[in-house]
Amino acid sequence: MEKADLLLINAHVLTMDTEFRAFPAGAVAVRNGAILAVGPQSELLRDLRAEDTVDCRGAVAMPALINAHTHAAMSLLRGLADDLRLDVWLLGYMMPVERQFVAPDFVRLGTRLACAEMIRGGVGTFADMYYFEDDVASAAAEAGLRAVCAQTVMKHPTPDSDSFEDGLERARAFLKKWKGHRLIVPAVAAHAPYTCTEEILRACTALAIEHGVALHVHLAETAAEVDSMRREFGMPEVPYLRNLGMFAAKVTAAHGVHLDEGEIRTIWKAGAGLAHCPTSNLKLASGIAPVAKMLEIGLAVGIGTDGAASNNDLDMFEELRLAALLAKGSSGNPTAVPARTALMMATRMGAHALHLGAVTGSLEPGKRADLLLLDLQGVHSSPGFQRSTDSVYSRIVYSAKACDVTDLMVDGKWLLRGRALQNLPEADLLHQAAETARRLDAFLELRESSVLSKLVAIETATEEESFEVQVKVKVPADFPILQRLDNPELEVLYQRRYREYDTYFEFAAADQGRLRYREDQYVADSGEPTNARYRLTLTGPTREREFTGAVLLSRSRFLAPATRSRRFYREYFQPVRIIEVVKNRLRWQIRFRGTEFYVNFDAVSKPALPGSFLEVKSRTWSRRDAESKAGMIVEIVRLLGAGDAEAFREDYVEMAGKE
Ligand SMILES: [Zn+2]
Repeated sequence: MEKADLLLINAHVLTMDTEFRAFPAGAVAVRNGAILAVGPQSELLRDLRAEDTVDCRGAVAMPALINAHTHAAMSLLRGLADDLRLDVWLLGYMMPVERQFVAPDFVRLGTRLACAEMIRGGVGTFADMYYFEDDVASAAAEAGLRAVCAQTVMKHPTPDSDSFEDGLERARAFLKKWKGHRLIVPAVAAHAPYTCTEEILRACTALAIEHGVALHVHLAETAAEVDSMRREFGMPEVPYLRNLGMFAAKVTAAHGVHLDEGEIRTIWKAGAGLAHCPTSNLKLASGIAPVAKMLEIGLAVGIGTDGAASNNDLDMFEELRLAALLAKGSSGNPTAVPARTALMMATRMGAHALHLGAVTGSLEPGKRADLLLLDLQGVHSSPGFQRSTDSVYSRIVYSAKACDVTDLMVDGKWLLRGRALQNLPEADLLHQAAETARRLDAFLELRESSVLSKLVAIETATEEESFEVQVKVKVPADFPILQRLDNPELEVLYQRRYREYDTYFEFAAADQGRLRYREDQYVADSGEPTNARYRLTLTGPTREREFTGAVLLSRSRFLAPATRSRRFYREYFQPVRIIEVVKNRLRWQIRFRGTEFYVNFDAVSKPALPGSFLEVKSRTWSRRDAESKAGMIVEIVRLLGAGDAEAFREDYVEMAGKE
């Protein structure tokens, strides 16, 4: 008689194997951390002698769930910033906070917290992509979970690597260290096509192939990302990656929201897997992945929670239910992705998508003993029907909750027993997480209290203390400026013409200053627009002083190139008031008595202001210089015949605000 280490009896066993064999009065035998036998209880009791027997009291015994894509350590960022657009969320909050806080200790704590949550929810294997992946791997191994840990490489500096070369070296060392581990499967992550260069994508692919490990990548998550890929390379992401040779590696792609049928076929032929992340895609309004089409083609589609910062939990029961529901709602077909299929995606197919199909994902002899016990006796999943063998799948997918998981075993070891975590100090983790949250709160509170620190967090701003002497005069629209400039005392150095679009963001506290988003559209002499320039200027409160009818402005300014859209800045800075000013500007640089000045001649079309505005100004650095320039400015205005240089102090912005 064969010997088992452990025999689970009195269980409703769902094998999730290719035939979906189920044993309502079933048993599972475990030996050396692997599944020895699965079948009717009577047979196993007859054929096996077990060291230890566990009575499952009618619970469902099924494969532990596979979370096919997450960023475990981000559990510490759960709920930090929600209800934001992807770019504002990522570039405005996640990345600045990660730059500041993500270090080995943070990653370990976050991963342990995530492991506690996943173990409670029946997850036996998770695929991770983050920084300091060595610490993710240690934490997961200590918790006893199986994990595919992918060390991230990208073109931007990350919390663990100053350059992509550093990231690649870190990945290489990581692969060497963890290869062959009982629970940890090391991998490489090329973060995403848009955060990597071609060189990085090629290097990551080569590294993955060299070590025979999986290559993880975020793929076609948003429409905007796919559009910009088309603009830049003339093709969507999958052909682009195929041309670089990426699919020669064992790829697992996350999201795949915006893939067409041809692209799905390409990744299917390549033997790649896909991680569907329904909650994250909904929460960030990325869209709904064409899962029914993927399954029809035969692609291995697993289900992932994504990080807890964009979900905001690691509950695979919610995720697999949503996968079933979304496929129906988005296709208008209630037969799409039935319950059993959804559960398969979260188990056997998920393992396949992670290239672990031979190891886990179903209860079959030879596979590792990764299984969970699920109590379906709760009020929310009662009663149970026996008429159809499929009804148990619908109870699991549509009724059961993560908290119905009572026990979890990974690699033959219990990680959860009677709802008690076996090797993670839950209370201690919660306490440490709360401590970390306090530090993050303090950091963001300080940052959010100042427009300047928010600006510095996302753009490289340079400070410039500037003094300007200027006069602004209102003149009739038909003021003959060209004629007046034709004066022997005024030497014109150059002339420019552009259209200026200014958006002013104003904040509740006046001492925050005013942030201007400016788009300069240069216009050629022919009237054709040429190049554009985008800039951000944060102007401190103006300190004004008058000199002989001219105004001296003294203020500190912070300048930054505007690398994002106006919409991004509006959503990120959240001004209390927005003022738009559009003007056609003619600008001359002139020389008067050996000193250079700017003359601006503006027609303001938004708000529609009557007449034109003549501005004469100059930069200055000292009070004496300011006084002498102020005097010259008054003379220039007189020479131009634009009145007696009574300073016209109202600003366009104030005029626009009065509208
Ligand atoms: Zn992700």
